[in-house]
Order: sequence, then C-alpha cells, then structure tokens
Amino acid sequence: MKKYDYLIVGSGLFGATCANLLSKKGNKILVIDKRNNIGGNVYTENIEGINVHKYGAHIFHTSDDKVWEYVNNFAKLNRFTNSPIAIYKDEVYNLPFNMNTFSKIWKDVFTPADALRHIEEEKQEIKKEPKNLEEQAISLVGRTIYEKLIKEYTEKQWGKKCNELPAFIIKRLPVRFTYDNNYFDDKYQGIPIGGYTKMVENMLEGIEIKLNTDFSSDKSLKNIANKIIYTGAIDEYFDYKLGELEYRTLKFENKILDVENYQGNAVVNFTSSNVKYTRIIEHKHFENVENNPKTIITYEYPLKYQKNMERYYTVNDEKNNLLAKQYKELASKEKNVYFGGRLGNYKYYDMDDVIKEAMLLCENI
Ligand code: UDP
Repeated sequence: MKKYDYLIVGSGLFGATCANLLSKKGNKILVIDKRNNIGGNVYTENIEGINVHKYGAHIFHTSDDKVWEYVNNFAKLNRFTNSPIAIYKDEVYNLPFNMNTFSKIWKDVFTPADALRHIEEEKQEIKKEPKNLEEQAISLVGRTIYEKLIKEYTEKQWGKKCNELPAFIIKRLPVRFTYDNNYFDDKYQGIPIGGYTKMVENMLEGIEIKLNTDFSSDKSLKNIANKIIYTGAIDEYFDYKLGELEYRTLKFENKILDVENYQGNAVVNFTSSNVKYTRIIEHKHFENVENNPKTIITYEYPLKYQKNMERYYTVNDEKNNLLAKQYKELASKEKNVYFGGRLGNYKYYDMDDVIKEAMLLCENI
C-alpha cells in the first residue's frame, strides 16, 4: 500500500487543478513544490498593499466557458482589459496592432481601407507562405510596423534573430482593423481580485502540500504514491539523457516608488534594442489599487537560460520540438506518470490552456 494515490510535482496551475479535481474524487494527494511558495509562475505577493506578480505579469483570458466557470470557483476575477503601450525611441503606440497603431504610424490613415492599403503594399515583399517570424510579421502588418514594434523587441525577448524564430509566436497577437486596444480576442478576461496566490490556495484547500521539496533530488518520492503527475521540465525528469531542451529565462528588477501613478498603464513595452528590458509592469493597475501613495514597478529583462535558473518560456522551434517529441515518447512509456503544463509538455501555453489540459487529464486518468 502506497501512502498516497497521487503525488503531484509542482503547485502551478496544472498541478493545482489536478490536485483539486482528483481530491474531489476522493483521492489522497500530496503536492510538492521545490520553491518556498505555491502557484508556480502565477504566484503573487502582497507588498505595500499591491499584489506583485513575482514571476512575471499574468493576465487571465479564455474563450472556454468551462475553464472560466472553473476558475471563478476559487476567485472573483475583475474586468481588467490588457491594453499595452509600446514605446519605440521617442514614439508611443497602442498595442495590439489596431487602427490606433496604424493611424499613428501612417499619417494618412483614417479608415481600415487606408490601413489595408499600406499593409497590402508593404507585404508584397513576402511572396510565399511565411516560414519564420520575420516573414509572418511583415505579411501581417508590413515592414514599417515590423521594424518599429516587433523586430528589436522579439530579438531581445528570444535572443535569436526573427528569421530564426517560429512564425506562430507573432500570431499570438491580434491584428485588428477597429480602434480597439484590447490585447486579447477572448470572451473572458480578468485578474483574480486579491491575487493569484489566494486563488491557488483556494484550489489546494485541504490538500497536503510540502514546499522546498525537489523531486529531482529525492528519488524516494517516486515510490510514495500510486501515480505521479509531473509538471516540472520534461528533460530534467529524464536526467537530460537525450540532451537539454532550450528555455528562456527572465530577470526581474522591482522598485517601490513614492509616486501614485508611475506610467499610467499596467504594461509598457519597450520595443527598441537600445533599452535592455522588454517591458515595465506597474502592478497596481491590474487591480485598480486606489488611495495608495506608493507604486511598485518591475523591469523585465530576458536572459539566456542556464541550468538551475527559472524556466519561463519554452523555445518551440523545430530543433527543440523534435527533441521534446523524443522526450514525450519516453514519457508515454513511463508507467503511472503523467506529464503536464508548460514545462512537462514543453509548450508555450497560456494559463487557460494549462487548466484545460489538466481538466482533460483528470477526466481520462
Ligand atoms: N511582441 C512584439 N512586440 C511587442 C509585444 C510582443 O514583437 O511589443 C512579439 C514578441 O515576439 C513576443 C510575442 O509577440 O514574444 C508574444 O507576445 P506576448 O505579449 O504574447 O508574450 P508574453 O506575454 O507571453 O511574453
């Protein structure tokens, strides 16, 4: 008899959803996390009355009714709409690419037809089906916007040239011919009031959790439960025996300022290469914190990932996808071990995708 029905490795959204759904079915569960906190990268910490997104800004959005209903069991979400600003040298633009952006880029643009005329003309240089991010971007919005708002930002973000990156990354952003600065096309969008940590705490209510517990360095954990749900990095699980997958890490520099409103927006992107950070996040704007004379801002610097750093992004180019596929073949042969989440599946998932996957796993398991 094993002590637990399930050991869940990682308390991010994949692990927390599985823990919640499987415990409701009467399973005995242990959740472990190598960090000193639950929530994985959605973890928020209240500092000076402001919920700080400690591992990068997270804005929840989905078009899936079931996922939206599910998260609303654990938190009330506000009606935050992400509308980032992009600063390129001394110019300010609205994102995502929409009529506000187009009319500022091209002075003779007033209507969607005007914008389309420019884009159609500029995209002529791409003759075939776009095969990398550069070609994809130019064929979506033309070279002028590509050069001001995409090229340098993307190259800082990924540490690779745009013509070496997969096209799908840029398709995450909508291109819209209306004067609408909403970054997401989804039906639902919001931030859990009171922070993500509270939401994950509610998901894990009544479930045993051990923090500061690293699955990789304690092999005895493998035998503690009948089944394992593993949300860590798939290459690490197999001791990198097929080689190392590539990730992108981030460095965050936080500042508490004695000003009420520093940048007037939650997210400001810096799209030129002479500014080394990609964006500044001003956390109080996510939850409309009022009557607080202070603010907290975070500068976000993308960096090359090296072993034992935090993994934030998977790098889903052809080479890494091929290696990930080989790891997934090994994973499918692991008896009673299920892999999930961004790192377990090596996919650039959004939060709602992660929850959807976890729900599916718990239905099938
Ligand atoms: N991107 C860009 N300019 C911007 C914002 C985003 O070129 O001002 C590109 C960049 O390649 C980035 C991708 O769009 O990696 C996806 O951006 P998103 O905001 O979805 O990324 P995340 O929030 O996951 O870092």
